[in-house]
Amino acid sequence: MLPRRLARAIWIVPLAVPGMVDPSPASAEVRIFACEPEWAAVSTEVGGEAVSVYAATHGRQDPHYIRLRPSLIDQMRRADVLFCSGAGLEGAWLPVILQRGAPQSLQHGQPGHLIASEHVRLLNPPSRVDRSPGHVHAEGNPHVQLLPENIDFMATELARRLVAIDPDNTETYRRQLSAFQERWRAATAGWLERSSRLAGMSVVAYHEAWAYLYEWTGIKQAATIERLPGVPPTIGHLQKVLELARSAGAHAILRAPYEPTEGMEWVSDRAGIPIVELPFTVGGLEGVDNLFDLFDVTLARLEEVHDQY
Ligand SMILES: [Zn+2]
Repeated sequence: MLPRRLARAIWIVPLAVPGMVDPSPASAEVRIFACEPEWAAVSTEVGGEAVSVYAATHGRQDPHYIRLRPSLIDQMRRADVLFCSGAGLEGAWLPVILQRGAPQSLQHGQPGHLIASEHVRLLNPPSRVDRSPGHVHAEGNPHVQLLPENIDFMATELARRLVAIDPDNTETYRRQLSAFQERWRAATAGWLERSSRLAGMSVVAYHEAWAYLYEWTGIKQAATIERLPGVPPTIGHLQKVLELARSAGAHAILRAPYEPTEGMEWVSDRAGIPIVELPFTVGGLEGVDNLFDLFDVTLARLEEVHDQY
């Protein structure tokens, strides 16, 4: 960010008049390229007006598979910070854009290269058995956003990176981080309290998408419709899922907004359990506009299922 700091220093000298507002040009914002909406939301909370945020995917899109668009490459070239889940989640598209002219400041080892899976504990660590063709979680489960403390960790880490990249705004980042954390920790305490009655509830999922949600709610997964993450079901596998759902007394089938419904409907009809759509990320369902909504709505939908069982 040297050019920006230089530019600002040049401006400040002649304009350092008491009461005069620092005329930082709009381009002085730190540009954050977030691979998923949850990291865009963390960026907005911590960066506020000092950053501009671009989200490469929206809440109704499967982040494993997106179409490469020229605008993605263009946004990446202009970014100061890359903020993604990692652990292979973006393996089908991110390396390609990184190779097509991403600046040095976004490369691994730089403060501008921020990958959540390198900072939080990964669930579902890979085993030898898991290394099957088409398996998309071979590095562990990358869907880390549904554990409240992971959001907290990543907000802290992002603030550290922003301070390193844009030291002029250190106080702003610290203030915004601490305001966010105060609200987030209060909300987390409330979610944990609410979640206690969900402990032991059994569900079926389409994809191994909810491991971090199960971690703090105590919800148990009886089976996944996919044979392995990224590998679609066969009829034989669906039969097995149905048996597992019945014997576990599954309450519902959890669905992220972009997941196909055929296999879920097959099991839902036979097991007599509903398909419940959860937002999965910010923007996944209508009214889920920020990280707080994401957890509030997720819990509310699970509570509803639990109480109707
Ligand atoms: Zn996945």
